[in-house]
Amino acid sequence: MSRSAGSEAALAALVAGIGACRICVERPEGAPLPHEPRPVARVSAKARLLIAGQAPGMRVHRSGLPFDDPSGDRLRGWMGVDRETFYDVSRIGVAAMSFCFPGYDAHGGDLPPRRECARHWHDPLFAALPQVETILAVGKYAQAYHLRRLGVALPRSASVAETVGRWREFSALTPKIVPLPHPSWRNSAWLKRNSWFAEELLPVVRAEVGRLAGWDGKT
Ligand code: SF4
Repeated sequence: MSRSAGSEAALAALVAGIGACRICVERPEGAPLPHEPRPVARVSAKARLLIAGQAPGMRVHRSGLPFDDPSGDRLRGWMGVDRETFYDVSRIGVAAMSFCFPGYDAHGGDLPPRRECARHWHDPLFAALPQVETILAVGKYAQAYHLRRLGVALPRSASVAETVGRWREFSALTPKIVPLPHPSWRNSAWLKRNSWFAEELLPVVRAEVGRLAGWDGKT
């Protein structure tokens, strides 16, 4: 078996393991997942662009498609891609900090990502994706994890706004990390207050998405 075929087989085994994962109901750290796991992760040995989000919400838990919601529509707008390109796993991978919907907190908000995913899956999964050149890190959990993996420790007190504001620093990393706020409607006021995000960072995001996941699929 060639090295490349072996790497692809190792990635396929990891993806199959994630798809069948029941750790959060059978061996949870703390309270078990309050529903059947439905891991949502879309990766391939080809895609050079990866979106690292926070966790699926209930709607995505039902559909099985990441960012299949209004937040996803806004993210696609930021990236300048349609659904067809976004869901072409040979062009764009999606792997959140929690592959399963974590459930709701006492106030009806989504719980933070399950820690078990990072402990069991993330290091081997991202090591198995060496072709990824750029990671769009959406939200503080993904930013902290992917930057730490590349040797950049964010201050514990760092807000998403502060981390996103440092985006130029992280473009020198391999892979590049592009920090983004969550595209939720809850961040609309932040987006209005921080017009530099749309003026300075989004053109860079679109150029990077075009370079790595362009229509011809090559450059
Ligand atoms: S959240 Fe992650 S670790 Fe927990 S059951 Fe789902 S895939 Fe497994």
